[in-house]
Amino acid sequence: MQKWLTNLKIILKKSLDLIYPLNCVICKRKLNFDDGSYLCSECYSKIIRNKPPFSVKCDCSPVYFQRAWAVGKYTGIIKDLIHLFKYHRQQYLSKPLGKLMVDFIKTNLNWQTIDVLVPVPLHPRKLRQREFNQSELLAKEINKQISIPLANALIRIKQTSSQTILPPEKRLSNIAGAFKMREQKEVAQKSILLIDDVLTSGATANECARVLKQGGAKRIEVLALAGK
Ligand SMILES: [Zn+2]
Repeated sequence: MQKWLTNLKIILKKSLDLIYPLNCVICKRKLNFDDGSYLCSECYSKIIRNKPPFSVKCDCSPVYFQRAWAVGKYTGIIKDLIHLFKYHRQQYLSKPLGKLMVDFIKTNLNWQTIDVLVPVPLHPRKLRQREFNQSELLAKEINKQISIPLANALIRIKQTSSQTILPPEKRLSNIAGAFKMREQKEVAQKSILLIDDVLTSGATANECARVLKQGGAKRIEVLALAGK
């Protein structure tokens, strides 16, 4: 091969490496053309997904949503990905993570009956800190791939301690009154799929569902990336 062509190839590859992280974010191996974005097909296939019936039990009563699902267990690759995504600001991971949720929706849910996706909101202060709402980015990916409309129908008015560090009996009172309706007409009479990243006790999702129900939502289901 002519030398200039080799040089050109090297330059092109180097510039591409700058634009795209061409290594798998988990195993660091070079990505192939047929791999997904940011995650190699091998790591993607190693993600431990939940088996039917998928439902996550909520430690709350009354329960305001119909059912809650989690794509996988909060462990292994899925946990690593969520950590990179949320705490290391690797926003582009919403793509493979969103794809996981879309795969789940297409295979297991009667998604044609869902009217709108509502992400669990972050408190404005937290949003400024993190610069993005992880649940909203996931909902955006789902919206891109299966075009269910998205509505940021809820706002968070109370900044709460992280549910994961609290004992179960404190979680309900911690989250009570944390959300408010933003736009009632976005949810009235609608079938809603509430989107969250991690479901722990279900108390956060249930509080969102309570407010949505109060706002006239017909039916609420919950989908999270990972559950306990
Ligand atoms: Zn990999």
